[in-house]
Amino acid sequence: VSALYIVPTPIGNRADMVPRAVEVLQSVGLIAAEDMRHSRPLLQHFAIETPMLAYHDHSDERVVERVLSTLQGGDSVALISDAGTPLISDPGYRIVDAAHSAGIPVIPIPGACAAIAALSAAGLPSDRFCFEGFLPAKSQARFTALQALVAESRTLIFYEAPHRLLETVKGMAEVFGSDRIAVLAREVTKMHETIRRAPLGELAEWIAADSNQQRGECVLLVKGAPQRQQALDAEAERILYLLMDELP
Ligand code: SAM
Repeated sequence: VSALYIVPTPIGNRADMVPRAVEVLQSVGLIAAEDMRHSRPLLQHFAIETPMLAYHDHSDERVVERVLSTLQGGDSVALISDAGTPLISDPGYRIVDAAHSAGIPVIPIPGACAAIAALSAAGLPSDRFCFEGFLPAKSQARFTALQALVAESRTLIFYEAPHRLLETVKGMAEVFGSDRIAVLAREVTKMHETIRRAPLGELAEWIAADSNQQRGECVLLVKGAPQRQQALDAEAERILYLLMDELP
């Protein structure tokens, strides 16, 4: 039976391509790719000659229909994005949703994901974490988004564009406090890979002092708020409800 395969690609180092991803990409009838021009060199490198189709979550309905009709016609389809795991701050949701609705099996191939790679090396609690993806680009909206996370006790994971990194780390120091521990995971699996753990205030200074840190791709991780703050918030909420009952 045909299936929709969700296939990860490397986030920098081609040696991270998993063998099963290569096998699947070689054997399916169609590859739905975020950007065909971007993926072509990788596919060529692994001698993958499968036809491609460009897919984005904003693509025309006809693109999703073409993927579905390929699947319903008995051919399997693989979904890839530019780098890492599709659907993780990347396109794919609409296709996976449509496949489930049509009763087509969806098969994930595990592999590279910047957020998980960064978390595994961050030395921050990893038993529970929140993946926040990209913060809003506008500074006021970003500030509001950070404020909403101030009492979150789980480790926070963000993707950030290099040109906004410094401003974001400064904003985090302001909102979460400059003593809160954070980790910058930059250029993971690449030549200039850097994993740096420091309090937010110190991290901001370090990034400001070295413009090389404002280049390439990065993941930011922030230690969660101490549980005590959550307990205090819960206590404040309990008292608020008690008072509200008493008010006319
Ligand atoms: N789907 C991808 C994944 O599984 O990680 C993420 C795609 S998202 C559009 C791209 C963002 O992921 C970058 O802006 C950066 O925040 C992060 N990223 C991707 N590759 C990275 C790398 N090698 N090192 C650090 N961060 C990376």
